[in-house]
Amino acid sequence: MNTRAVPEPEKLNIAILGGGIAGLSLAIALANHPLINTTIYEKTLELKEIGASIALGPNGLRTLERLGLSDVIDDENGFRGTGTAGMVYRHWKTNEVIGTHVHADVKEWLHQTTRFHRGHLHGKLVEHVPRDSIKLGKNVIGIVMDEKGVTVNFKDGSKAWADIAIGADGLRSGVRQALVPKFKLKWSGLTAFRSVFDKSLVESIPDLPEDSAHWWGPDTTFFSSRLGRNMYTVVGGVTVDPDDQDARFKDVSWDDEGDVEVLKEVYKNWNPVVKALTKVTPSIRYHPNFSCSAPLDTWVFGDRITLIGDAAHAHGGAFATGGSLAIDDAYALYLSLKSVFSLSAARKPPAQEIRKALKLYETTRKPHAERLLKVVHAGNTAKIDMIRNEIIETDEQLRERAARGSNTGWLHEHDVMKAFDEALRFSQKNDGKEEVLPRL
Ligand SMILES: Cc1cc2nc3c(=O)[nH]c(=O)nc-3n(C[C@H](O)[C@H](O)[C@H](O)COP(=O)(O)OP(=O)(O)OC[C@H]3O[C@@H](n4cnc5c(N)ncnc54)[C@H](O)[C@@H]3O)c2cc1C
Repeated sequence: MNTRAVPEPEKLNIAILGGGIAGLSLAIALANHPLINTTIYEKTLELKEIGASIALGPNGLRTLERLGLSDVIDDENGFRGTGTAGMVYRHWKTNEVIGTHVHADVKEWLHQTTRFHRGHLHGKLVEHVPRDSIKLGKNVIGIVMDEKGVTVNFKDGSKAWADIAIGADGLRSGVRQALVPKFKLKWSGLTAFRSVFDKSLVESIPDLPEDSAHWWGPDTTFFSSRLGRNMYTVVGGVTVDPDDQDARFKDVSWDDEGDVEVLKEVYKNWNPVVKALTKVTPSIRYHPNFSCSAPLDTWVFGDRITLIGDAAHAHGGAFATGGSLAIDDAYALYLSLKSVFSLSAARKPPAQEIRKALKLYETTRKPHAERLLKVVHAGNTAKIDMIRNEIIETDEQLRERAARGSNTGWLHEHDVMKAFDEALRFSQKNDGKEEVLPRL
């Protein structure tokens, strides 16, 4: 009898650079592939519950459910309100409902827009990743690719090697900056004031809406919502001309401690519910809004590196879609890698096959992200024009705008699997020609 063991196929090593929402989602998706080893390299020393509120739309929620993560998105961890509308717009002065955004095709309760404390969403994702595959205190400072793989250099002097490296290091991605040195982020002029606190603080406010609410005013907005795990959030903000040298908040940094008196002052003439919310808010943090000045030309670098999440498309958090986009990027990348490296493959894919998978991922996601970036840039430009020309929206215009809503069904209900299938068909038809991206 022949007792010689069949050699195990060699595993594909993937280094995920950044352990935020995108990096964790990718590690969870790739764990479904028995021949892939992933390691997350995260710069922070501890995975703490930091951040304020974050929303997931039907797109990201469906993907997390597909990945078997119902506990991450359940009603304990997140808040869905009555689940009847993705967003309710209210009038800044009268508190009337002046518009709603209802999802066109969302039948499942779990897929209704859900709001979380970012720390709770992140913390639950972490529970699904084997602890020994997350290396903390690993601040990426350089990345070198050759024909065999990628070497990642860390600030502590150590190095790691992988077949593929994925930049998942967020809005201010160092990986992206190393690959595209001319890339620039631009301040939109908006500085958000965010706070998350215990829900008990708002319980005695008369007429407080049960659902999340977005009050629209002539020059700013105010958002409030219950979150999972008995938390509550408020988000206000001020937009100024970003090119004005004396602009208010010009010098604040992301997550700086703010002055709660500023929140009260900005909303002092708003309706009693908003005013009451500003009065119970214990503290705020400032979050200046940055997005890319232009989209990246490519998301694929050589044969072995790509970007996901905010690193790939720095859209500045518009339409509260950054979390869902990151999750769908991760899933599209998993599907793309699987298309060149089946679950029972006998050998690791060669470099050109890896590149093919990365280009397939890019074809699936980049046109979608660019559509969003176009909307974001147009909105930012229009807002700045209004400020520069001192144009104040009339009450009638404001009501009309709210009644029209933000028309974002294409974004929040985007089907990443359908987009992937279309991209796959396109790439098979074009057989290796990479130049043209389809308009999905
Ligand atoms: C601390 C924090 C708090 C946030 N709070 C909110 C919030 O309240 N509301 C909201 O809507 N969005 C918030 N965001 C942004 C939001 O998570 C993202 O917009 C979105 O989820 C996309 O996820 P991402 O994984 O691409 O980026 P992120 O979630 O930003 O994750 C990027 C990860 O990469 C790590 N990283 C960065 N540089 C390096 C490096 N050089 N080496 C290794 N690792 C690196 C970061 O520490 C982080 O863990 C926050 C992000 C962070 C990092």
